[in-house]
Amino acid sequence: MRTTDATDAPATATAADVGAAGGEAPARVLDLRSDTVTRPGEAMRRAMADAPVGDDVFKEDPTVNALQERIAERLGFEAALFVSSGTQSNLCALLTHCGRGDEYIAGQSAHVYRWEGGGAAVLGGIQPNPLPHRADGTLDPADIAAAVKPDDPHFPRTRLLCLENTIGGRPVPLDYLRTATGLAREHGLATHLDGARLFNAAVAAGGDPFEQARLIAGNFDSVSVCFSKGLGAPVGSTLLGSREFVARALRWRKALGGGMRQAGVVAAGALYALEHHVPRLADDHAHAALFAEGLKDVAALDVEPAQTNMVFAEPAPGLTADEVRARLAERGVLCAAYPGRLRFVFHLEITREDTERAVRTVREALEGSSTR
Ligand SMILES: *Cc1c(COP(=O)(O)O)cnc(C)c1O
Repeated sequence: MRTTDATDAPATATAADVGAAGGEAPARVLDLRSDTVTRPGEAMRRAMADAPVGDDVFKEDPTVNALQERIAERLGFEAALFVSSGTQSNLCALLTHCGRGDEYIAGQSAHVYRWEGGGAAVLGGIQPNPLPHRADGTLDPADIAAAVKPDDPHFPRTRLLCLENTIGGRPVPLDYLRTATGLAREHGLATHLDGARLFNAAVAAGGDPFEQARLIAGNFDSVSVCFSKGLGAPVGSTLLGSREFVARALRWRKALGGGMRQAGVVAAGALYALEHHVPRLADDHAHAALFAEGLKDVAALDVEPAQTNMVFAEPAPGLTADEVRARLAERGVLCAAYPGRLRFVFHLEITREDTERAVRTVREALEGSSTR
């Protein structure tokens, strides 16, 4: 697997890039860098403004409590913990599952290994054991089994398997999740799912998205879900697990500075997203598919078919990803550029018309006479 994934790399385009080529200013900048760029709409803002609140460190914020109960019930867990970010959620999970000198297994491109500042090692003395991904983003069960170390004082204690779904915009097959987590349990490992985009995976599976999300999540001891990605809330994630696990994670959240007092103001955005924005992820997936389809004959770009809300594309030889990114930015379409690869993410601020405009813009930037 290539090393860019379903993560949110720092923005590489700025508003200053837009319209830099002169000519007619685009109607509106289409920001396809990430699904984290969404802003709360009127109804979500109203829910946030009207939310009943209390001191959540005293467990007295009714909105935080409601969100925690609702997501736990939706995903079939005993308990949930509202946290400030997906990174804090994964870190609380690692610190709860593992102690100093323990080790967790994750993919080399996994957010929890690659994109979280090494938090588990920095703050917990927990060593990662990163494994290569197969082409579909999964880890080879044989590699997982081989990575588990024997009980011997020479070795760190292998404690935890961390998987990610979606990974690189791809849903992970349910039977793979069953196999990999079953294998982990056979070896005495706990299991954690970084489900930042769990609901994208659930929607991609078809049928009732909450039912699908429960089927995915049910394989794991703990699950992290982000509300600030495709679900469109401004802030927040939840960490789910048993009552006992969440009680221990709560101590870590406090130690990490994550006790947030009248957090119901932001939890209300997450609760609103959970209640209103899950089925609509299918629109983002449809827009991503439309975008990829609309560009498949563009010679300058090798576009991968969309599986959820992301489209990845490789520029043809002689063209760098950053050059393509800059050309699109001049025309009012922002995307993320990685070495050799571009990422376009579809979210609730992007309509079908926007998607069609984005297709026209890319085609024009790469093959039209207006190309530099
Ligand atoms: C975004 C993301 C996270 C972390 O979420 P933040 O809220 O940005 O800290 C974790 N895992 C995956 C897969 C993500 O995409």
